[in-house]
Amino acid sequence: MANIIDGKLISDQIKQELKEKVSQLKNQNIAIQLAVIQVGNDPASSVYVSNKKKACAFVGIDSISYELSSDTTEEELLELIYELNESSSVNGILVQLPLPKSISEERILLAIDPKKDVDGFHPYNVGSMCIGKATYLPCTPAGVIQLLKRSNIDIEGKDCVILGRSNIVGKPMSLLMLQENATVTICHSKTKNLKEVCKKADILIVAIGKPKMITAEYVKEDAVVIDVGIHRDENNKLCGDVDFDAVFASCQAITPVPGGVGPMTIAMLLQNCIDSAWNK
Ligand code: NDP
Repeated sequence: MANIIDGKLISDQIKQELKEKVSQLKNQNIAIQLAVIQVGNDPASSVYVSNKKKACAFVGIDSISYELSSDTTEEELLELIYELNESSSVNGILVQLPLPKSISEERILLAIDPKKDVDGFHPYNVGSMCIGKATYLPCTPAGVIQLLKRSNIDIEGKDCVILGRSNIVGKPMSLLMLQENATVTICHSKTKNLKEVCKKADILIVAIGKPKMITAEYVKEDAVVIDVGIHRDENNKLCGDVDFDAVFASCQAITPVPGGVGPMTIAMLLQNCIDSAWNK
């Protein structure tokens, strides 16, 4: 039976460490402020935003909310971002995605000052990550690296298969695993012989957005399985891209959903906010 990689526990440890850092910064009169922008009232986004604000409060980061109506125009949102870019008290700007279809996500993410881009989505920060320069790392992939390291799972020299090539998870995940000296394979919807490719992985990282698609047939015995997916199943219970019950029996270690990658994403956001204040 597999070890459960407890993302809740590890993220709590990180948050405790960050709380101490924030208090040290406060002793030096350095305050940290995160601006959180939500456009519309998508229920899942509201839950994510509320969890991020709670986590900020826990470590002592001041969060200011901008809850904008769904008919906000791209120009109005851009104006708010320019204002926050100029603000001397705001260290980090987070725009909760997805945005309404009438607004170009690309234009909005490009407008955020890279020095305040605590999600790590701005092309400047993505480029810096590609060449291995320390910057704001995208929160979910950075969280996965922390999960592995803090669970004492060796990455160097391991065969790592990443399922999914999105800009926010799969692609940056592959770069970070490469930086940790894994041998990386990236799969996507056009990959042939997916099961065979996945079965070669020592570390299988799944971010495909397909509930419970990855069954035991995709997983090598003794593999480490990281499940990034988040969904509601037919009983309205949270589940991942991996069929946890089917895979648990044979792999070496696995992240649960909930309580795996999700809490780590938030912890890494806090880390980036603190770095932004520190860099300033
Ligand atoms: P996207 O939909 O942007 O990307 C999905 C990727 O999976 C694509 O590259 C796609 O390939 C690939 N894919 C889809 N179906 C298959 C298939 N049948 N076989 C092989 N590859 C496939 O998703 P995201 O990366 O944004 O998110 C992935 C999951 O992670 C979602 O469930 C999301 O909710 C969750 N998530 C969780 C976070 C957390 O904090 N825990 C944070 C962010 C996301 P192609 O490129 O060819 O279309």
